[in-house]
Amino acid sequence: MVVILLGPPGAGKGTQGRRIAALRGAPKISTGEIFRDLAAAGTPLGLEAKKYWSLGELVPDEMVVGLIAERLKDADCRNGFLLDGFPRTVAQADILSTLLGGLGCKLDGVLNFAVQDEALVSRLGGRQTCDNCGATYHVKAMPPRAEGVCDHCGHALVRRADDSPEAIRKRLREYEVKTAPLLTYYADRGVLHTVVSNGSPDEVYARVQDALGQMEAS
Ligand code: ADP
Ligand code: ZN
Repeated sequence: MVVILLGPPGAGKGTQGRRIAALRGAPKISTGEIFRDLAAAGTPLGLEAKKYWSLGELVPDEMVVGLIAERLKDADCRNGFLLDGFPRTVAQADILSTLLGGLGCKLDGVLNFAVQDEALVSRLGGRQTCDNCGATYHVKAMPPRAEGVCDHCGHALVRRADDSPEAIRKRLREYEVKTAPLLTYYADRGVLHTVVSNGSPDEVYARVQDALGQMEAS
């Protein structure tokens, strides 16, 4: 199945996406993670993209679509995939639709994680991530078992460069202006499923499973 995870920064796309991916055995492709890895590896594209994302701005479309086009050709994508953080603009959504056509797959649905703005700021402000395995934690709401250490792989947890208060505000504005129009875009195409993303990760996951069930029935 091909599913897009949509929603503002901090809405829980990463956390929920990892669970769905594990359940379905499909890869979760996060363009944000790809950019962070490329920057950490010091590649030219990675360093160029970091000029944008570290400030909370979207990376230009042309830097994103080539990466995605290549990633979707990988063998692990043959039985479907979850997209986390792509598309983020209407232009990217149009390109995705062409790419899917070329691969002979169809979009099953879009999960829209809806959450109130105040919740987003506190979720992102306390966030810690593992840059080895991609797991995310929250100092209050979802602390790791040992402070500062990833439960899954034992690596030290870090705060993302774009989780500063200024970058968080910028990311939320970028979402409203450039990404939120995708809600209408996909609603018009009859594939949008909204999941209320307030509450614990388990509560949200139960709603995700309902939405995936509806997608499969339609
Ligand atoms: P979050 O959803 O928590 O903001 P992501 O890890 O998905 O974070 O993305 C981090 C940053 O990477 C974004 O703020 C943006 O700068 C860049 N980025 C990721 N995906 C895209 C995309 N599809 N188009 C443009 N920029 C992107
Ligand atoms: Zn880890």
